[in-house]
Amino acid sequence: QVKDWDVALRVIDKIEKAGFEAVIVGGAVRDHLLQREIHDVDVATSALPMEIKKIFSNTVDVGIEHGTVVVLDEGKPIEVTTYRTDGTYTDFRRPEEVTFVRDLPKDLERRDFTINAMAYTKDGTIIDLFGGKEDIENRIIRAVGDANSRFREDALRMLRAVRFAAQLGFDIDELTMKAIQKDCDLIEFIARERIHMEFSKMWVADYVYFGVKALVDSDLALYLPGNFRENLEAWKEFHTKQEEVGWAYLCLLNRNDMENIIDFYKLSNKQKNFTKKVIQAYDSLLKRWDEYDYFSNDLIILETAYDFATWQGKNVPFEKEHIAKVKEHLPIQSMEQFALNGNLLMEWSGLKGGPWLKEALNKALYAVLSGRVKNDEEHLKEWFHNEFIDERQNH
Ligand code: ATP
Ligand code: MG
Repeated sequence: QVKDWDVALRVIDKIEKAGFEAVIVGGAVRDHLLQREIHDVDVATSALPMEIKKIFSNTVDVGIEHGTVVVLDEGKPIEVTTYRTDGTYTDFRRPEEVTFVRDLPKDLERRDFTINAMAYTKDGTIIDLFGGKEDIENRIIRAVGDANSRFREDALRMLRAVRFAAQLGFDIDELTMKAIQKDCDLIEFIARERIHMEFSKMWVADYVYFGVKALVDSDLALYLPGNFRENLEAWKEFHTKQEEVGWAYLCLLNRNDMENIIDFYKLSNKQKNFTKKVIQAYDSLLKRWDEYDYFSNDLIILETAYDFATWQGKNVPFEKEHIAKVKEHLPIQSMEQFALNGNLLMEWSGLKGGPWLKEALNKALYAVLSGRVKNDEEHLKEWFHNEFIDERQNH
């Protein structure tokens, strides 16, 4: 399979042949130097969006007012963005308008951290105006230019520093850290959706504890719900590949403040539902799971609840592998496989429907799941007459 990186180089070649400059910029250059997996490769160019659209036959306007055109010609989508400077900043937020420029240094200057402000040319030269390479070697996140000015331009950058710390396991440079401590209250001006995105990226990062610690050390935690300072230890073992696991764990650690967390960080319905299910499974795990817990929860919910318990140092008296085994060996895997239904019960008893039906079905389901009754009509009928009807008559 062709790598995005190589596709981007082909795009660059075509732009250069048309007489413009083009380079790979931002996260891809950083991850290339770190030999990390590269997600999306961004190309920056001296050409204007209209000029890019003349060079390529297959393009999509995704953010043309910000200078971005997606080029599809080479088989994989590549974002091509015109060199630009950001317009004036108000309210500590990203500016609405941008100004296109023809030279690369101006474009690199507007970027947040030195490790994100390098460019890679087609012939393999790294353009590094702010010492990004050295910072990568020393594993440091450092603002480009004066940190406080940069955070006042766009306060989200403070949280981005924390997120990169979590992704890369890098330290935040001392001066940059001091600048965050000074301006951390400005995070209140930032749209919750952008905050949400940074956290979502942090949850699936390789060094989450490192990130949470940076959140605390930078004092950003004072302005973000989640009691990160008090709960720091609980993040030590945390690791996941799924964002919603992070949100659910944050909720679990802040049960008294859960509604606020859900609201503040704008959790989606999917994230909320996942959270609800995991916390419910977590609560019954502490009381000890029975067959019905195994039956009615998806494996991912059970395993996540198990992780939540162990990450908090709670003693769970079985191995995680045990969960899948128990689930696999349940007599039935879904309600569709259950041999009993309400109609059969009414037929066998000659009674009309009512609350007793649900009760009987539940009891029968438990009996099947725990292996006390075989899941076929004959055995269930026998169970029904012996246990259920008898029991009712005795009352
Ligand atoms: P990843 O995609 O792995 O999350 P990234 O470095 O590509 O990391 P993006 O958010 O995709 O991060 O941004 C791409 C590049 O744009 C960054 O590397 C940085 O140079 C620049 N950038 C993004 N957001 C900002 C910002 N708020 N302020 C300044 N520069 C930014
Ligand atoms: Mg990116």
